[in-house]
Amino acid sequence: NRQWVLRQRPKGLIQDGDLELVDAPIPEVKDSEVLIRTVYLSLDPTNRTWMNDAEGYLPAVQLGAVMRGLTLGVVEESKSDRFKAGDIVTTAAGGWSHYAVVPDSTVSRVHRAPGLPLTANMSVMGMTGMTAWFGVMDVLQPKAGETIVISAAAGAVGSIAGQVAKAQGARVIGIAGGPEKCRWLTEELGFDAAIDYKNEDVGDALDRLAPDGVEMNFENVGGDIMVSVFNRLKVHARMAVCGLISSYNATRMPPSPNLGRLITHRIRMQGFLVMDYSPRVKEMVVGLGPMLADGRVQWKVHVDDGLEGALDSLNRLFTGDHDGKLLVRVSEE
Ligand code: NDP
Repeated sequence: NRQWVLRQRPKGLIQDGDLELVDAPIPEVKDSEVLIRTVYLSLDPTNRTWMNDAEGYLPAVQLGAVMRGLTLGVVEESKSDRFKAGDIVTTAAGGWSHYAVVPDSTVSRVHRAPGLPLTANMSVMGMTGMTAWFGVMDVLQPKAGETIVISAAAGAVGSIAGQVAKAQGARVIGIAGGPEKCRWLTEELGFDAAIDYKNEDVGDALDRLAPDGVEMNFENVGGDIMVSVFNRLKVHARMAVCGLISSYNATRMPPSPNLGRLITHRIRMQGFLVMDYSPRVKEMVVGLGPMLADGRVQWKVHVDDGLEGALDSLNRLFTGDHDGKLLVRVSEE
């Protein structure tokens, strides 16, 4: 059973030797446990934060432990009365491993969305869609005519968040790296404007596109990009802090906004975690499902084959060298 084990805490981008690919026997399945064969492994920016020995929303992955990750797979053997062999399930307890034996309490059954491939359950109808949906609909609550700025807008969460906000009648400005990603946002997803942060100054572009300022920020990046947006938030603006990817590999913290502006502009800044919304998954399915079905919301997945390349795959999230929700296909469906 091949699996990736954390050997040392990375400094900056993950390097060879930080994790090791090992072969380990598959443990015996005990009462209330299931053996899952991994089909897809979700690679998420937050995986990098779990490797740090720092306070987080989950404990750090221990040195010597299998790397944590959300997986979708097939039950191969079951000693649970809730699951049987052949069931398609997800679990956050399986990790970067071909096979995993996990307690049934960590396992959820996959409800395939009609007409959509299984990868949808690991992206737009899974955690990605949940994050975008609740970040926009619950945290920001856009009103028609308001302007929203979204960073990492061509990424998995950002691209869905922008389309959801657009469907609420908001004016949507995306920030993304490179002309091709920006073109996708405006020409195919219906964003009102896109800022290529690799080729233009974000603050100057915002002054041009939203001279009176903006009402909402869906923040995925942090650092200089966040400061530029924050400095242009209007009085009573709302900010959903979803992620700060520019700091996940940083050895020195990037610049932060001057929080005095929260007071002078009475800005509401709220961090949120998708896992808190698990009990409300139906709202996302009911809200986003029809938009997927009739093509109002488009989505992409980027599938890399083979668990062996997972480290290089994960680093794609930090270079932007991927097109859509990043998954690793570990075995065939
Ligand atoms: P994405 O598909 O958006 O991939 C990450 C993207 O971030 C890259 O493609 C790249 O896009 C951009 N990026 C990476 N580094 C930088 C940088 N230094 N400066 C600017 N842009 C950068 O990943 P996800 O959609 O999975 O995640 C997006 C964000 O949402 C992350 O911050 C993540 O942590 C957060 N998140 C939060 C959740 C929550 O519960 N709060 C749940 C899920 C995700 P480009 O090519 O445009 O540079």
